[in-house]
Amino acid sequence: MSQQGYVATPPYSQAQPGMGGYPAGFGSSPAQPLYGHYGGQPQSFPAPPTGKATFLWSLIPPVKSSVYVLKVVHTPPTYPAGPGPMQNPQASPTSPPAQQPFQTAPPPTMGQTTLGPPPTGPHSPQMAPPQSPLAGPSMGGHPSMGGHPSMGGHPSMGGHPSMGGHPPMGGMGRPVPGPPPPGSGGFQQPGPGAAGQPGYPQQPQGTESAVTCGSVMITAKLYGFIGPVSWSQMKPIPGIKHVTEDDQAKRGGQVYTTNLRGQVPPLVTTDFTVQDQGNASPRFMRCTTYSFPCTADLAKQCQVPLGAIIKPFATVPKNETPLYFVNHGETGPIRCNRCKAYMCPYMQFIDGGRRYQCGFCNCVNEVPAFYFQHLDHMGRRVDLYERPELSLGSYEFEATLDYCKNNKPASPPAYIFMIDVSYANIKSGLVRLICEELKTLLDNLPREDGAESSTVKVGFVTYNKILHFYNVKSALAQPQMMVVSDTAEMFVPLLDGFLVNFQESRAVINNLLDQIPDMFADTNESETVFAPVIQAGVEALKTAECSGKLFIFHSSIPTAEAPGKLKNRDDKKLINTEKEKTLFQPQKGVYEQLSKDCVSQGCSVDLFLFPSQYVDLATMGDVPTHTGGSIFKYSNFQVYTNSNHFLSDLRKDVEKAIGFDAIMRVRTSTGFRATNFFGAIHMNNTTDVEMAAVDCDKAVTVEFKHDDKLSEETGALMQCALLYTTVNGQRRLRIHNLSLNCSAQLSELYKSCETDALINFFAKSAYRAMLNQPLKTVREILVNQTAHMLACYRKNCSSPSAASQLILPDAMKVFPVYLNSLMKTGPLVGSADLSTDDRAHQRLIATAMGVEDTQLLLYPRLIPLHNMDVASDVVPAPVRCSEERLTDAGMFLLENGRSLFLWLGQACPPELVQRVFNVPSFAHLPADLSSLPVLDNPQSKKLRSIIDSLLDQRPSAMKLLIVKQKDRSEMLFRQHLVEDKGPYGGASYMDFLCYVHCEIRQVLT
Ligand SMILES: [Zn+2]
Repeated sequence: MSQQGYVATPPYSQAQPGMGGYPAGFGSSPAQPLYGHYGGQPQSFPAPPTGKATFLWSLIPPVKSSVYVLKVVHTPPTYPAGPGPMQNPQASPTSPPAQQPFQTAPPPTMGQTTLGPPPTGPHSPQMAPPQSPLAGPSMGGHPSMGGHPSMGGHPSMGGHPSMGGHPPMGGMGRPVPGPPPPGSGGFQQPGPGAAGQPGYPQQPQGTESAVTCGSVMITAKLYGFIGPVSWSQMKPIPGIKHVTEDDQAKRGGQVYTTNLRGQVPPLVTTDFTVQDQGNASPRFMRCTTYSFPCTADLAKQCQVPLGAIIKPFATVPKNETPLYFVNHGETGPIRCNRCKAYMCPYMQFIDGGRRYQCGFCNCVNEVPAFYFQHLDHMGRRVDLYERPELSLGSYEFEATLDYCKNNKPASPPAYIFMIDVSYANIKSGLVRLICEELKTLLDNLPREDGAESSTVKVGFVTYNKILHFYNVKSALAQPQMMVVSDTAEMFVPLLDGFLVNFQESRAVINNLLDQIPDMFADTNESETVFAPVIQAGVEALKTAECSGKLFIFHSSIPTAEAPGKLKNRDDKKLINTEKEKTLFQPQKGVYEQLSKDCVSQGCSVDLFLFPSQYVDLATMGDVPTHTGGSIFKYSNFQVYTNSNHFLSDLRKDVEKAIGFDAIMRVRTSTGFRATNFFGAIHMNNTTDVEMAAVDCDKAVTVEFKHDDKLSEETGALMQCALLYTTVNGQRRLRIHNLSLNCSAQLSELYKSCETDALINFFAKSAYRAMLNQPLKTVREILVNQTAHMLACYRKNCSSPSAASQLILPDAMKVFPVYLNSLMKTGPLVGSADLSTDDRAHQRLIATAMGVEDTQLLLYPRLIPLHNMDVASDVVPAPVRCSEERLTDAGMFLLENGRSLFLWLGQACPPELVQRVFNVPSFAHLPADLSSLPVLDNPQSKKLRSIIDSLLDQRPSAMKLLIVKQKDRSEMLFRQHLVEDKGPYGGASYMDFLCYVHCEIRQVLT
């Protein structure tokens, strides 16, 4: 960071006392959480600035918490007096213009005073005064943990002798004592009280530096520049590139040891190794802040959301230890009698080891006789390091019959492949492609580590207006088809032979897969059903008494007469009106009931869509997004151009690590509680998160609220317990524990923020809110909350400075980039040029994304390739996502986890074009190029290897789009240059930063 002139506190300069006596390895920075709430008094905001802005930086001397200081210099607007960024062309004439950010009204004229903030500070300080020292780190040691020698491997745990303690009563479902949950959080209407308070110290007014929102007037020459200055000429405004590179430089390649409470992990973009020493790896759990505010008032004041993003099945890299498995035999896991929390490092043993006090509810419990162990002179159990559940953040328990449905052992899950064989899919060759692929793919069904073959059963259905089930019992010479034409009352016509072991029935199944494309070769049926297909899958799993997953390959809107029939309701006229939200609301009724049926059976639905037109994805995607499923979409599918993309997705999807019939519960220590959940989940009550399946890429975002005061001494503890069925049919509990700091100082909270996690929370809450509120309101709330978070920091944590300076907490300095990008995403941008299904799709998939995925989605990687060192294995460093970084003679790769582009400048050197594409020059490149030729030269090899490694890292496959500068397809590419003005609406990063700055000043006045 330093080379950019940023001033940052060394994040680990203050070792945390942490959990009793650990060496200060990775000293945590004292956490400073933010709490943001979509609530708070609506502020009255002026119009966004439309003027071209320039920023000057000044730096403050290093202090404990680093702060950015920007001087904002607005030059007069250069746009025509048109609408501002993110305008809303159809804004209701009745809405009070002054309160709407992104409004359509032209910018206020110069010198307008009604909307502008008060006179601002002196223009003089090039250097801001030093910041007042922040309060010291929270000193809360953690009583329950003892010192920890550096842990080599962990001895695995055996079973357990005699003496059942008391077995758990029932499932995981005991409600935590405490007051009833508050109303759901998120985008709701604000109560009073969050408004910025008066009393922010006014700076002496300087004449030239008066910066008013929207239209202002500080000339650059004031700061020694002549005329308008572009920002690239000056010190850069906070950029994600620098932040990620700095973190990589500081923490990359290191071991991150989780022994300290409240320590902020490296960024998701940083390459690090995790060693579990009492807290869950950040791969499993990340928080928006690692220091919660002690009181609800503080939380409300700063409006930083308190959230955790939990990815319970996150992939653990090969060089990290997989989760240990604990088996307490018939007794089952040991749990607190009162709150039902599972045995973990936060339980404190007392009374010579005969009792333990629960770290979550403080209840004192008897230690079951079989579990008794003596304590050492430090009060720690002498077997501490032999028991994963006493010393690790994450581990698994064997679940007893009490944790199984109807007290019966679970069965291995089944995968049912359901292929739409209507005219379009036969004609396109898709059906044949799928059938061919399945013949080999089914050898790769998920299996337990070390198992020779998978126990997952498979079944096959084809359908158009009616359904065809297949008996593929191994004893048969030929598969048998059974037709169900009454789709209103779906049933499964065969019990035996529908779900089989692939290895045993391979011959019959291959025979079937050979026959299917021919059986329907002459079909002219173009109508399809959809809900009955899902119903059939659930019924089949019910009959087989197992959980599982449906893989549905479908092409068109289901218009055939049957339950769940849909019609085209894509009305572009609704865009930017109050009713736009209806485009994203699923048609309820049949689909809502289906989701419930699926979840109660542990039936996850993965939908592969191949539409050539609108399919009402908002509704068709409803069941997948409530059952832990995924939605893949291949518009205008052609075997020739799209096969690789689709088949890569299908392979990853079939093979990935997954758990079934899951129920998750997040327990917390006293004083706060999980109140709101986002993900591909279903909730029957306020606490139990049900997931028909959860795979290695799915995350659940949880919001926490206070219900009492938190203590700095004991911190904030959370335990996520996930009960699920393995691919082997075993019932298990996966436990993730995390301990955070608490502080009465807001500065602590801001210092421990994690911007990547924060934007994940904002994205999910905004995408949910858009189902109930106009997009304009959702965008306003986003900006409003951001302004509040930043204003609160400025007011309470930074030293007085000129109002013209934009001050950002170090840990949140790039938050505005992400937020601006979020507001320009398809779902939130409100443009008739975007397909409704695409917008709905993006909204739904983001709902289950983890922090890595939202980070990349909102800030794509733009990698320059024209100067790459072909001799090196290193991928060239990404550059800022802005058109300014493109050069006519350049070649760039851009990817965001969903899309992958190779952009070529018009003046791209012919030699490079020749080596990569095997054509003599840019002009010779065919327009519809969609893949790279395999050529035997270093440039071609290097480029293909970069692309392959990117594809390998991402949860879903991406189709490479080759874009020539100035071609029509460039628009698709440009919408990902998120620092620029959006082609479908939305401000540039610079303009947005100006806008946020004005909003902050509004809050402060
Ligand atoms: Zn308890």
